[in-house]
Amino acid sequence: MDNITCITRDGTVWTPEFVTELNAKTCISCGRCYKVCTRDVLELIDRSESDLPEDDDEDDSESMASVMSLANPGDCTGCGACSRVCPKNCFTNSPLPLAA
Ligand code: SF4
Ligand code: SF4
Repeated sequence: MDNITCITRDGTVWTPEFVTELNAKTCISCGRCYKVCTRDVLELIDRSESDLPEDDDEDDSESMASVMSLANPGDCTGCGACSRVCPKNCFTNSPLPLAA
């Protein structure tokens, strides 16, 4: 099955890479991804005990209490901005097939 593709202003075809996962264990709740996302995809939520960060170098009470989540993954356009700004490589992105 063909993957979803888009076209830039000059007609160049490109393949979006949609967010498929967000690793809560590496997220430090910095909010950088939220600031750059132009869609309603991401949301800061309460962190569960099982999602405590693996790397506690930058932990503080605020980052321990919350974690970024994929609230509306269906709104993702696959622009990749969140992945580029994330300092902890929390995001997994992938091309996706056209819906049947
Ligand atoms: S890939 Fe783009 S649209 Fe999708 S969550 Fe990241 S910043 Fe938002
Ligand atoms: S940019 Fe990365 S570390 Fe920061 S809140 Fe988003 S997912 Fe978490």
